[in-house]
Amino acid sequence: MKAAVVREFGGGFATEEVDLSAPIGREVAVGVKASGLCHTDLTASRNNIGYAPPMVLGHEVAGIVTAVGPEVTSLAVGDHVVGCLVQSCGACESCLTGRTFQCEHPEVTLRGPEDAPRLTVAGEPVTQAFGLGGFAQQVLIHENQLVKVDERIPFPQAALLGCGVVTGAGAVINTANTQAGDSVVIIGAGGVGLNAINGARVAGATAIIVVDVADDKLEKARRFGATHTINSTVTDPVAEVHRITGRGADAAFDFVGIPKVTQQGLEMIRPGGGLYCIGILDPAATVPLLTIGIIGAQKRIQGVYMGSTTPKHDIPLYADLYLQGRFLLDELISKEIALDEIDAGYEALHDSSVTRVVITSGLS
Ligand SMILES: [Zn+2]
Ligand SMILES: [Zn+2]
Repeated sequence: MKAAVVREFGGGFATEEVDLSAPIGREVAVGVKASGLCHTDLTASRNNIGYAPPMVLGHEVAGIVTAVGPEVTSLAVGDHVVGCLVQSCGACESCLTGRTFQCEHPEVTLRGPEDAPRLTVAGEPVTQAFGLGGFAQQVLIHENQLVKVDERIPFPQAALLGCGVVTGAGAVINTANTQAGDSVVIIGAGGVGLNAINGARVAGATAIIVVDVADDKLEKARRFGATHTINSTVTDPVAEVHRITGRGADAAFDFVGIPKVTQQGLEMIRPGGGLYCIGILDPAATVPLLTIGIIGAQKRIQGVYMGSTTPKHDIPLYADLYLQGRFLLDELISKEIALDEIDAGYEALHDSSVTRVVITSGLS
C-alpha cells in the first residue's frame, strides 16, 4: 500500500510503497477513505516531538474496517470508523472513572518490542505516529483508538471528528462544563476554534464572542453561530468583552497560545471565571501572572488536552448532532486533495480563507 513518508525532519511528505502487517490481538485494519491535515502533523514533520523518521504521520483518519485481530470485540469488517489520538488502556483508574484522556497506560494500544512493527519499508521499521499513521491507504489501529460512526456521515466530515472537532467542542462542553445561559469568549476562529462555537451553541451559551485578527474568519464564525465578533487589530478585545457581558465572560478559550493573547483571555473573564488554554504557537512561551489578581478574582487557568474527550462517547454524539443539522462540519472543509499533495495542502492552509484540508483521493 502507499503512504506519505517523512524521511527527515523538514524534508516534507513523499508517497512510498509501505508494507502493513496483518492485525494481531485487538488491532483493526482500516481502508482509509479520508485523512485530515492537522497542524500538529506539520509540526511533527519538522521537529522532534517524540516521533522519529522514517515515519507516517496523520491523525484525523476515517475509513472502513477491512480486517480485525482475533481479540477484537467492538468492531467488525464493514464498520465505518474514525481514529482518535486519545490512547487509552480501558483498565486503569483514569479510564475506569471516565477520564480516558488521562490514561496511565497508553502504550497498551501499541505493539510491544517483541512484536514485528506494524509498518515497514523493505523490511525496515517505519514509525506509526500517534498509533494512527493516517496519511496512508490503509492503517492498523488498536480498537480502543477507533470509534464506530453512522454510515450516513461522509468520510471527510467523519475524519475531522477525531481531533479538530473533539478538541474545540470538548473544551467548551467537557472541560469548561459550559451551561445554558453562559457567556464564552473564543479566541482564534480557525479549524479548532470554529468547533468551539459548535460546542458553545450545543451547550446553550447565550453570548458566544469570537476574537480574531482576520475579517474573513470572523465572518465564518458568525455563520457558525458567533453572537458577537471582535477584530482585535481594530478593537480592544478585553474592553469589548466587558462591554458586552457587563462583568466579564464565564469562560475564555485561547486557541492561539501567544502570551499577549493568553493574558487578554485572563482579563476577559469574570470573578470566578475560567481561562482554558488549548493553542500552542510557541512551546517555550511563558506568561507572567499577578498572583493577587488571581486570588482576589478567584480565576482559574486550565490546560486542555484533546477537549477532555472520551472518544467512544463524544464522537458518536457529535456525529448525531451533525446528522440532525445542529453541529456544522461541512463548512469546515475548504479543500480536498490527493495523498501525494500533502505539502501543497499545508501551503494552502496559510490562506486565512482555508479552514481545513482533507485527503480524499489516492486512498483505498
Ligand atoms: Zn490534530
Ligand atoms: Zn487507561
